[in-house]
Amino acid sequence: MEPLLLTKREKRKLASQYADLCLTCGTCAGGCPVTGVDGLDVRKCVRLALLGMDQEVIDSKFPWVCTLCGRCEHACPMNIDLLALLRSARGKRAREQVPGVLHKGVEQCLKSGNNVGIPKEDFLFLLEDLGVELAEELPGFEVPVDKKGAKYLFTINSKEPFGEPEDMMFWWRILYAAKESWTTTSENWEGVNWGLFTGDDESMKEIVGRIVKNYKDLECEYLVLPE
Ligand code: SF4
Ligand code: SF4
Repeated sequence: MEPLLLTKREKRKLASQYADLCLTCGTCAGGCPVTGVDGLDVRKCVRLALLGMDQEVIDSKFPWVCTLCGRCEHACPMNIDLLALLRSARGKRAREQVPGVLHKGVEQCLKSGNNVGIPKEDFLFLLEDLGVELAEELPGFEVPVDKKGAKYLFTINSKEPFGEPEDMMFWWRILYAAKESWTTTSENWEGVNWGLFTGDDESMKEIVGRIVKNYKDLECEYLVLPE
């Protein structure tokens, strides 16, 4: 027969064994900007997890309003891995119950290579069009796409081509002025990984893997993420 303590630990999915060390001192909750949301605070989440009441945490709003800023974990005198607990709670919620558009964005990214489903031809047309516009100000400028051997590979936050395309020109101007060699890619260019925010490790890994593949295939030196 297994020791009682081990059996209890195995029942817990959220709390790591280190959570046993919690002193209930409240230092974590004291500096947290979302303490009190849904009647919870991070200390209570630790306690619920320790008691095996994972579902209470998973069903609550708390892990989703948590910004994952890490302030609680930084302040904890017992070095308890609070961020892992909170993100794990997100990951254990049924995907159709993930708040807002986050999971839809993950699915879209897996399908189309970006969170909002911009088709490849529209994306390339936009980059070319903006490049022509900027060339009026910066002679010879064009947006490099899939340029092998470029020093920097830039991923792109899809909200820019989707709603604020001129924002890309800010960093294009800097790269032009610095005479740097850079590129972006025609596929899998999304730089915002919502798998990270939704606790979806499998999707996060797939999305990261695609970016790394682009980086290796194009033999770039540095990878730049916008977020
Ligand atoms: S700061 Fe650490 S030890 Fe104190 S209540 Fe929070 S998790 Fe527990
Ligand atoms: S990581 Fe979340 S729980 Fe911790 S201090 Fe930041 S918002 Fe609060």
